[in-house]
Amino acid sequence: MKNAASSDVTRRRVQNGANGSAGEKKEEESAQWGRAWEVDWFSLISVVALLLLAPVLVLFLVMVCDQYQCSISQPVLDLYQGRTTLLSIWARVPSPTWMAAKIYTAWVVFQVVLYMCIPDVLHKVLPGYVGGVQEGATTPAGLINQYQINGLQCWLLTHFLWLANAQYFHFFSATIIFDHWMPLMWCANLLGYTVSTFVFIKAYLFPTNPQDCKFTGNMLYNYMMGIEFNPRVGRWFDFKLFFNGRPGIVAWTLINLSYMAKQQEVYGHVTNSMVLVNLLQGIYVLDFFWNEAWYLKTIDICHDHFGWYLGWGDCVWLPYLYTLQGLYLVYHPVQLSQTHFLLVLLLGLVGYYIFRATNHQKDLFRRTQGACTIWGGQPAFIQCSYRSADGAVHHSKLLTSGFWGVARHLNYTGDLMGSLAYCAACGFQHLLPYFYLLYMSVLLVHRCLRDEHRCSSKYGPDWHRYTRAVPHRLLPGIF
Ligand code: NDP
Repeated sequence: MKNAASSDVTRRRVQNGANGSAGEKKEEESAQWGRAWEVDWFSLISVVALLLLAPVLVLFLVMVCDQYQCSISQPVLDLYQGRTTLLSIWARVPSPTWMAAKIYTAWVVFQVVLYMCIPDVLHKVLPGYVGGVQEGATTPAGLINQYQINGLQCWLLTHFLWLANAQYFHFFSATIIFDHWMPLMWCANLLGYTVSTFVFIKAYLFPTNPQDCKFTGNMLYNYMMGIEFNPRVGRWFDFKLFFNGRPGIVAWTLINLSYMAKQQEVYGHVTNSMVLVNLLQGIYVLDFFWNEAWYLKTIDICHDHFGWYLGWGDCVWLPYLYTLQGLYLVYHPVQLSQTHFLLVLLLGLVGYYIFRATNHQKDLFRRTQGACTIWGGQPAFIQCSYRSADGAVHHSKLLTSGFWGVARHLNYTGDLMGSLAYCAACGFQHLLPYFYLLYMSVLLVHRCLRDEHRCSSKYGPDWHRYTRAVPHRLLPGIF
């Protein structure tokens, strides 16, 4: 199958090389938008660095909470001053346990069952909620995939059972996640690497859509960034949709609840900072599932291929590093002053509003083909066209009204304001809870540049008209 896919690509390239005019070559290139066919040295070094360092970083940050009261500098100082060695730090890392393996297996199997076996009914009863079978965006090869959207239902069912257990049944402790946090990390890693390796091999042996595979010629890059665009098993088990949303994002709020329960158990009360982190991140997670159908049109689903970056990232990076604030608050139960609490709450809610309203404006505009109202008026836009790999010409529109007229990625700005709020809820004693803000800034600035590069090759001169009309990316007048 791989040969079929790559020979198809080769055939087009050979034709271009032998007979194609410069214009045809340009058209062919523009039809490959979103696909880095040539891997440069910088990308390769970044890939190797990430593959080697990201798992160590996750282990380090969680371990310093477990062993060093969340002080990042302490183990580094101990090493520097010869009070400890890397081996003795390693010896303090908790080992995998059978109990953690059982908990993790039960968790993942439960989420697979919810995802695969219970079709969405919420869209029939909840006004305004879009669920059930939905279509994704057109892939670079010109395909449109169908998805079973039932994330909100899975999230609600999971949390209902969790709360029922905590309140009435007590089959397991509400602190179960915190209590097994380090051993569970080994299981999450095992799943992350297994999934990434499986989809890598699958792409060569039995790809779901060979036309949408991306073979760069570099194995490491392929493993990391993914070959298949939408790997599936059967008609409905979509790896990207499942792993991006569940088990990681469903778990996010449960992990925070488990931290809250641990604070209660250890200190006899829950701090207002813990409530704030649970509340703001809870809104973000709930928003994600309420808008899961919209999510099909975001970069993760409609542009990124599925490899280690998404597979391992969703299993390990997301649940472990997005929840660092709650973990920190278990070790440092910060009680915020009323002013601090209200300022952080305001920052988080305003950030969320900008994030959601910006995303909503684009979604509404694209869904209604511009037949809608943005900030009380008819939307302004730039008409543009692009070509898919099958040669077909498609038309699209780039919105220049509302938040999309203020900056080209104000949704990222709102997201960053929310991230700052989660961190600021932990006070200013330690650096560790601020890791999330640092990470999100790097992620979203890089994503912004990556997306603009892709849009530029997709839309060509139309994209440049857009960047002239809306000159700034994240902060009007600054960047
Ligand atoms: P966007 O939702 O901004 O999607 C970018 C795409 O939108 C572009 O590729 C282009 O796609 C289209 N587009 C760009 N400009 C316009 C315009 N003016 N009018 C209409 N369409 C336009 O980005 P993401 O998918 O990256 O992010 C979605 C949300 O998810 C963001 O709010 C982000 O903050 C959040 N996010 C959160 C993460 C987290 O870990 N917490 C990680 C990543 C994202 P097309 O080809 O269709 O034209």
